[in-house]
Amino acid sequence: MSSPEKFHGWLGHDATSAQGNLRWEPFTPKPFAETDIDIKVSHCGICGTDIHTLRSGWGPTHYPACVGHEIVGTVVRVGSSASSRHRIGDRVGVGAQALSCQRGDCDECSNGMESYCGKGFVGTYNGQYKDSGYWSMGGYADYVRVPAAFAIKIPDQVKSEDAAPMMCGGITVYAPLIHNGAGPGKTVGIVGLGGLGHFGVLFAKALGCDKVVAISRRRNKEDDTKAMGATDYIATSEDEKWDKKHSRTLDLIISTVSAPDMPLSGYLRLLKTKGQFIQVGAPEDVLPAISAFALIAKGCKIGGSQVGSPKEIEDMLKFAAEKGVKPWVQKIPMKQANKAIVEMEEGKARYRFVLENDEAHARL
Ligand code: NAP
Ligand code: ZN
Repeated sequence: MSSPEKFHGWLGHDATSAQGNLRWEPFTPKPFAETDIDIKVSHCGICGTDIHTLRSGWGPTHYPACVGHEIVGTVVRVGSSASSRHRIGDRVGVGAQALSCQRGDCDECSNGMESYCGKGFVGTYNGQYKDSGYWSMGGYADYVRVPAAFAIKIPDQVKSEDAAPMMCGGITVYAPLIHNGAGPGKTVGIVGLGGLGHFGVLFAKALGCDKVVAISRRRNKEDDTKAMGATDYIATSEDEKWDKKHSRTLDLIISTVSAPDMPLSGYLRLLKTKGQFIQVGAPEDVLPAISAFALIAKGCKIGGSQVGSPKEIEDMLKFAAEKGVKPWVQKIPMKQANKAIVEMEEGKARYRFVLENDEAHARL
């Protein structure tokens, strides 16, 4: 078992690539370092970030770009300094982060907050490795090459297609739920019921929150989210005076919405006194203006959260295995990536599309 010299992936060449213009082409991965592993990709989820990046929505992307950071596959090559972590044949996952500085003088890395590393954060795609100057390439591909420290072993109980979207979508909501006290005695609202949002409902339920309120624009996801464990549902485009009716009902809100015209003041109205609003969706424009009194008058806080550390990802996978947390995924053949990203952008995923390489490829 080994990896080829050239990998193949769905490459975006310009900002129109998110419109279904990816091309399956060969590319040269970063030079293999002894701290790296190569992974034969079996599954890769489609995250909203893939689309922001392909269309240069947050600033210029480095093209050609191969996106995909909800990766699961089998280890096929292990660098000599990576052998204490992984062995050939291990089933591992990689999320949105491929590397941090990992230095003892970095506050973030030395305190288990690698996802906030300000000195050496490299994204799994569209990130640049300082040593080689190569740009990272993601998981809409046959193989990926990544530093071993950011590849996490997948527990046997979790299927590959379920583990894949947890690597980014799952951890992005799991981490702020854990860090902001979600659990028994708490009422939690999840805004935006896409890939991240559906994980928010599943994890808030599994954590034992008293109430889990699914907050969507329309009513059409109500039955699904109740089946996931939501106890209540708010449809912001359809329910009259929803913010007034449900005001002061939530301890914690996780917002996965990335539309700059989101009704932010309305969401804040739902918070109880001392409530917290955590934004994880990442709009391509600024957030809506709010009145200072939306915060002052109830002693509320607004915050943000970025994915999670390798340890937190490991904890989440263990928690998911123990509690039987099962995402709602739709598997799509890797060859249909273009169709899938267009449909993802149209809001058709229920609730995460996961690209799957064919069995012959995925087999060892
Ligand atoms: P997604 O599956 O497309 O879900 C986004 C949801 O937002 C939609 O399902 C929709 O829910 C809601 N929405 C869309 N347009 C809206 C509008 N105009 N007003 C209000 N709500 C709207 O995307 P995703 O993969 O979950 O990603 C969501 C965001 O999180 C993206 O911006 C992504 O880049 C970001 N992200 C951040 C991190 C991080 O570390 N912070 C990590 C991963 C992803 P309803 O139909 O239910 O209203
Ligand atoms: Zn992501």
